[in-house]
Amino acid sequence: MRSRNSEKRRTIFTEAMEVFEEAADLIGLNHRVRLELEEPNYEHIFYVTVALKDRLVPVTASEAGRFKDLPETHPAFAPEILADGTLVLPDNALRRGDATVRDGFVKLGSRGTYRIEPGGPRRFKAYRVQYNDVRGPYKGGLRFHKEVSLDLFKSLAAEMTWKTAIVDVPFGGAKGGIRIDPRMYSKEEIKALTLRYMYKLKSLVGPNIDIPAPDVGTNPEIMGMLFRQFSDGERERHMTRGIVTGKDVRIGGSEGRTQATGQGVAYCIEEWFKDKGQSLKGATFILQGFGNVGSWAAKILTGMGARLLAVNDADGTVHNPDGLDVAALDQYVYENKDNIRKTVAGFPGGQPIPASELFAIPADMFIPAALGGTITAEVAEKLKVKLVAEGANEPTTPEGDEVLARRGIEVIPDIIANAGGVTVSYYEWLQNKRMEHWTEKEVLQRLETAVKSNYRIIRDIATNNPRKSELHDSRPYVVGKPCHSRVAAMVLALKRIEAHYLLEGFSQ
Ligand code: GLU
Repeated sequence: MRSRNSEKRRTIFTEAMEVFEEAADLIGLNHRVRLELEEPNYEHIFYVTVALKDRLVPVTASEAGRFKDLPETHPAFAPEILADGTLVLPDNALRRGDATVRDGFVKLGSRGTYRIEPGGPRRFKAYRVQYNDVRGPYKGGLRFHKEVSLDLFKSLAAEMTWKTAIVDVPFGGAKGGIRIDPRMYSKEEIKALTLRYMYKLKSLVGPNIDIPAPDVGTNPEIMGMLFRQFSDGERERHMTRGIVTGKDVRIGGSEGRTQATGQGVAYCIEEWFKDKGQSLKGATFILQGFGNVGSWAAKILTGMGARLLAVNDADGTVHNPDGLDVAALDQYVYENKDNIRKTVAGFPGGQPIPASELFAIPADMFIPAALGGTITAEVAEKLKVKLVAEGANEPTTPEGDEVLARRGIEVIPDIIANAGGVTVSYYEWLQNKRMEHWTEKEVLQRLETAVKSNYRIIRDIATNNPRKSELHDSRPYVVGKPCHSRVAAMVLALKRIEAHYLLEGFSQ
């Protein structure tokens, strides 16, 4: 990997672009194209305000003592419990219930005593980076997370540009979202925020301009709201259904979209094992993250005969040397009302271990499927696996990459491994345009071809082995010498993107 330029300030974006620079050098990318691709087309920063509701914050036992004789309050409607135990009451829950408030405190029977924290309007910072649209409309997810920044969205929007080129769907790259911890807000508040976000963004996006989708902290429900806010009152409203992808299948989403990213990871892994002449049956893996990508990758891979030895998330890590029961784990996390943090922590089918021990568990594969930057040099030294298959976006730092390469641990890079999501997003968009509904079988067949054929091209570029099979033709892409798989994936993206600039030219 290219060593970092110490004179430049190092950011998430510059770090992510190191592989771009390396691949651009390798293929002698046209200089003007390089300048076009080194920075985003547009970086939008804006603000959304919403009115927050009153919260009931649990008080300490000693504080509760002061309210021993406070009569109990019985709200008319059940409160919503946030991830830290704070309650949000539905509108009118106190007014229509039986309430006694003293000094701003209430007692909710067996739940305990709570301090009322007044709501009111609050401002949040929002983003949309439109990186490049030379191959088609801007495309990429919306992230609701407390640690987002312009720097992060620039890198993720660039990554979408490479990803859409790699799976050869006619889209560019974008990314955006809101700086917020969604687990600390009620459903109503998230809805208000989502609608307000689209209200502000509306003039910048459109089904043929820029198409958002789910990412960390967002989901099909949120996509439905964005569609509503965008399309309400529009003539030909139904022709705008493709304004977002990742919708619920009942309102124009595609069959197969929910599992698509995890499925794409599994298709890549299947090809990797096939190349090695090994079977996935009995292969073992460790997993970071049990959200949409991680949980689906786990379900699909265990369905193919692999065994999940350990998994972690922000709240805990569970380990079972005989293999975790993934269906039971999925139910524990997603179908269990008491699991308010939706965490794997406390799963009875495994033993809790410290988070740092996950990386040292010997297994065939490690699948990072959470946030970026987790495979640092230190983590890469600990890993006892043969393969890292990147379900997350940008999980490996440049130093982590160097260590993995030195230790002979192979990598299926994010821009092919997790490209299944945006591939099925394209199918959803096509179905919306044509007012069609494809079967799951049809979607998955197309997805398998898209992921596996491009996986093979990347493998051939990496090994400098030009060839043509029924599924793929890597001859136009190989560069005359072997290279790292991450560079190979970038070569494929850049050659496809460069062709657009060179064949279409530049307008003035
Ligand atoms: N957020 C997903 C990703 O990072 C999906 C993007 C999309 O479907 O547009 O690839």
